[in-house]
Amino acid sequence: MSKVAVFSGDDASPEVVEPTVRLVEAAGADVDWIRVPPDAVDDLTAVRAAVDAADATLFGAASGRSIPALQYLRWGRRTYANVRPVRTLPNTLRPLRDGARLDLVIVRENLEGLYAGVEGDLADTEGWGLTDRTGRPIAAGGPGAFAVQVVTRRWTAAVARIAFDLARQRAVESGRTGHVAIGTKHNVLPRTDGLFREVALEVAAGYPDVRVTSYLADDLARRLVASPAELDVVLLPNMYGDILSDAAAALVGGLGMAPSGCYGDDYAYFEPAHGTAPDIVGQGVINPTAQMLSAAMMLDYLGQPAAAARIDAAVGQVYRIGRALTRDQGGAALTAEFSNAVLEAL
Ligand code: ATP
Ligand code: MG
Repeated sequence: MSKVAVFSGDDASPEVVEPTVRLVEAAGADVDWIRVPPDAVDDLTAVRAAVDAADATLFGAASGRSIPALQYLRWGRRTYANVRPVRTLPNTLRPLRDGARLDLVIVRENLEGLYAGVEGDLADTEGWGLTDRTGRPIAAGGPGAFAVQVVTRRWTAAVARIAFDLARQRAVESGRTGHVAIGTKHNVLPRTDGLFREVALEVAAGYPDVRVTSYLADDLARRLVASPAELDVVLLPNMYGDILSDAAAALVGGLGMAPSGCYGDDYAYFEPAHGTAPDIVGQGVINPTAQMLSAAMMLDYLGQPAAAARIDAAVGQVYRIGRALTRDQGGAALTAEFSNAVLEAL
């Protein structure tokens, strides 16, 4: 029996979380839910109690009241690795003409980089001796703001190990050699991005069975669109990972198709890669695929791979049949119709 905290999230998010909870139950998962009532999602004491009492959290997308819960899950529980599989399902609306089936995973560092959120007023940096690349004082440029990019050996090594372990596991499953592609701007930011790359390559040395390549992040962005089938596991610092994983999601039909899991050493939470889709709230048209596949990732994490595989297979079958697709994939099915089709396939 696994204990799972559930947050239904903001805006249109509950419309995908509710059918996902029903699906997890129907898949025969052995799960005891800890529901966080909507009026308690911004009560940090209640949030912590629910999260800490659970083995994992199923999270809806957050944009408003659920943000503090998200911050606790990410920074409070130090879930440093955001894992985002990018897999082609049949009959989806994809922008690339060549029919290559994509099967790659983006692993994004989740706590640091520019998203550590250390920002300030440029005026306050006077006296720090900050200069531009020609030696001119930066604050002398007038009013402005700055952000600090943080890269530590500890969290870089931790997220790199997740990436290389994943490549190794995927190699076993596929029979191909595992491959990790690292993307950084170590040419422009040798200290911070350079350190991320250096530590990732140090970790790589412990995985002689996994091929490793280091690219400039912009070059990797090009490769992601030009030759995505050549990528396996992609390891990226926080902001590049955020941006490139949304772009990668577009390659397989958009955000509605993109699940994710955020892993720490002793906790993980699972949420769709998309936001709260405020523009379609209440219309009953949001695609629950990303949320459902996130739940399957969660069941894998919880040691319930059979239930996870049943969910993956049921979702896959609905796409293969192609008769109950939601609007974002060119269909006319409502969220409820898609969800019922998945339950039937199950
Ligand atoms: P947020 O600030 O929460 O990220 P957003 O306005 O950026 O909100 P997203 O949820 O990121 O909205 O979505 C971007 C676009 O993709 C929106 O047009 C949204 O309707 C669409 N979208 C997102 N998720 C889904 C989904 N699961 N099914 C269908 N469309 C979706
Ligand atoms: Mg968004």
